[in-house]
Amino acid sequence: MTILIVAEHDHHELKPATRSAVTAATALGGDIHLLITGHGVDKVAQAAAKVQGVTRVRVVDDLAYAHGLPENLAPLLVRIAPDYTTVMAAADSFGKNLLPRVAALLDVAVVSEITQIVDQNTFVRPIYAGNLNATVQTTDAIKVLTVRATSFPAAPDGGVAAIDTLPTTGDAGLSAWLSTEIQPTDRVELSTARVVVSGGRALGSAEQFQQVLAPLAAKLNAALGATRAAVDAGYAPNEWQVGQTGTVVAPDLYIAVGVSGAVQHLAGMKDSRVIVAINHDPDAPIFQWADYGLVADLFETVKELEHNL
Ligand SMILES: Cc1cc2nc3c(=O)[nH]c(=O)nc-3n(C[C@H](O)[C@H](O)[C@H](O)COP(=O)(O)OP(=O)(O)OC[C@H]3O[C@@H](n4cnc5c(N)ncnc54)[C@H](O)[C@@H]3O)c2cc1C
Repeated sequence: MTILIVAEHDHHELKPATRSAVTAATALGGDIHLLITGHGVDKVAQAAAKVQGVTRVRVVDDLAYAHGLPENLAPLLVRIAPDYTTVMAAADSFGKNLLPRVAALLDVAVVSEITQIVDQNTFVRPIYAGNLNATVQTTDAIKVLTVRATSFPAAPDGGVAAIDTLPTTGDAGLSAWLSTEIQPTDRVELSTARVVVSGGRALGSAEQFQQVLAPLAAKLNAALGATRAAVDAGYAPNEWQVGQTGTVVAPDLYIAVGVSGAVQHLAGMKDSRVIVAINHDPDAPIFQWADYGLVADLFETVKELEHNL
């Protein structure tokens, strides 16, 4: 049994979510190969070879892969996949963009966002916005899985894998990368932050979102998160959205400020170790999940909390 994990990286470092996929693969057993695609990926290939549990790093270096376009990567995966029993990636935007396409081309199912491995064919995955866990079994010859990173710890360094190179399948000519807009930030990344401060629609405006929550987040070295209602209202950027259709987080501490606690939001944060909620409505559903709840006006409370920290 040999498993292929499609790595996500920034051409320098592996994303922590890919390391979580390695931990999940370790639970499956067998050899673990990490596929590094991109252009000028020597450094990240060297880093990948050090990840504990990885037995081989496979590198495909081509400008066509530099921006992770799934239209170019899928034919490559389809060519390599028959050598493997399982093809995996983290269930983040990169993996969710790529693996369904690969599964469709291989004519197999994709088992998405697994949170537990029962055996080599049987996996647990959340359904109904995380309210139920389904145990699913696949009999496909090649299993295609995406892994919920928050359910598996990141594999540490400590390995010494061999590195080899594979030929490219080149540009499929189906899409072209035009530009990427990245907002420069010195903030902690949301998906891997140990503390998250999230705000809801109650913040009232983008200015107030920043003014009220940013000082608290800075003091706690926290990432900022938001509800979809706050994002839709333009108070926070899309990439801050936590929830069913946003990022799934499981930090040590999650502070929900003016967040109602709708199931779609809970789906993204209810596995946080400690949840603190500030809401002026004592009947807000978030209090059913909070370890600590404060029934209070957020505009008075957050400033006071930040001041006293
Ligand atoms: C298919 C689908 C997918 C979705 N995906 C997501 C998702 O990924 N993430 C997500 O978050 N939502 C998602 N939603 C939306 C979700 O259903 C809720 O609408 C949303 O989470 C509500 O956001 P909110 O709590 O900010 O807003 P509201 O529901 O408006 O709640 C605001 C809360 O703030 C409190 N409040 C108001 N003023 C104050 C104050 N001054 N001080 C203290 N408390 C105050 C109120 O009591 C209330 O509880 C999805 C919905 C659908 C249908």
